[in-house]
Amino acid sequence: MSLPPDPADFLLDGHSPARYERDLISAIGAVSATFAECDATFSGIDHEALRREVDAVDLQQPTSDCASALRELDRLYLRDAVYFHHPRYLAHLNCPVVLPALAADAVASAVNSSLDTWDQSAGGTLIEQRLIQWTCDRLGFDAAAADGIFTSGGTQSNLHALYLAREHAVGSRHATDRTAALPRLRVFASADSHFSVRTAARLLGLHPDAVVPIPTDGHRRLRVDALRAAIDSARAEGSIPMAVVATAGTTDFGVIDPLAEIAEVVHEQPAPLWLHVDAAYGGGLLVSPTRRSLLAGIERAHSATVDFHKSFFQPISASALLVRRSEWMDAGRHHADYLNPVRMTRAGIPNQVDKSLQTTRRFDALKLWLTLRVMGADAIGELFDRVIDRAGEAHRLVASDPRFEVVTPSDLSTVVFRFAGTDEANLAARAALSANAEAMIASTTVDGRTFLKFTLLNPRTTLADIAEVVALIAGYASEHLSAQPSLAS
Ligand SMILES: *Cc1c(COP(=O)(O)O)cnc(C)c1O
Repeated sequence: MSLPPDPADFLLDGHSPARYERDLISAIGAVSATFAECDATFSGIDHEALRREVDAVDLQQPTSDCASALRELDRLYLRDAVYFHHPRYLAHLNCPVVLPALAADAVASAVNSSLDTWDQSAGGTLIEQRLIQWTCDRLGFDAAAADGIFTSGGTQSNLHALYLAREHAVGSRHATDRTAALPRLRVFASADSHFSVRTAARLLGLHPDAVVPIPTDGHRRLRVDALRAAIDSARAEGSIPMAVVATAGTTDFGVIDPLAEIAEVVHEQPAPLWLHVDAAYGGGLLVSPTRRSLLAGIERAHSATVDFHKSFFQPISASALLVRRSEWMDAGRHHADYLNPVRMTRAGIPNQVDKSLQTTRRFDALKLWLTLRVMGADAIGELFDRVIDRAGEAHRLVASDPRFEVVTPSDLSTVVFRFAGTDEANLAARAALSANAEAMIASTTVDGRTFLKFTLLNPRTTLADIAEVVALIAGYASEHLSAQPSLAS
């Protein structure tokens, strides 16, 4: 196929509907064909082999048509990608995605609204604002008083939350006083909280040890007595408690901290201690027809993180930061003459840029919108419920097998376990599953020892899938142990 005479013919506009349709249909065709044939979550290809293929592409030689570039992409990417929709993908917090969201992504990319201002998005801004209100309402915030913003993910939502918390603590101080206060600020989070909390504290210029790890109980939930003691001793030594971060679904264990009791501790404290609930993973419970009560207490948080790209079956990226009172977002407000001048705000013209850490911003909210319009919230919640049920069954399966040791049951959809033997035997089993294209699982460290981890987010994963993977793990790990008689003795 020949190159169009004018490069402008590659632009999507009123002249290119035929080309647009053809190119998108060939992309959809390539993906559909791959999914139809996909019989493993990952081919197990070695990264050096794949790198040679990628490096061999001559970027000076365009293919000039989409179909041939897609054929090339099949070899470089599609054939050997990691497929989250496969029932034996049990590794990380990645979900299969729902079809309405894919249709929405196609629309969002084509129209290419930028959600910073009304004059770059119009209805896009209103749709995002409706979804923020909807999420706030589900959280139990007063939607009329609350606010929030879509973000790129939980990492950004957590950073934004702690930024607001920092400003809440020291924003009203004069410069010298503020500078003196910064190294004294402390953030309290369970030892199992997400690393992005510590990254955020560093980015916000806090003390290197600003995040105080709070020990967890036998079920790996933040210990409320230890939290109270840590806050008291921080005050006693002249530090300023800035925020408590509770996790609603820890990344490793899917455990929900005691939100109501933590909220109680925070509200007993003198202001301005801030409660942030990191519900990046557990946020899916907001739509669960049966388990919403597990989030009881979240309505008392100052802010919350919800990752739609984890437990709402949305494509990456889709996350939000929600705050209980809109004025708490003022810390970041700014007016740029070229973008959102004060006169526009005074005229009541809506904009999102003065709340966001980003400027140009994708219309990620559209995915959630179309999903809710097509499927409804209950259907999403039911899918999340199914994977939680399945994780419970998987936990019982592994716990009843004497060859395995299991960590506490999850409130959500993870199973953390270990084959009795060495760390290396467990890691060897994990590597063998991937190399033989049988399954993808994760590993983590618990109290200094290596454990394996299933994270279930695929409602199509059956207990039989899990049982088979468990049997394979036992086989590979025993093989590894018997190959090393000197260590086993
Ligand atoms: C995944 C996760 C994050 C980070 O979210 P991203 O969307 O990956 O940036 C933060 N907190 C928790 C508890 C998570 O599970």
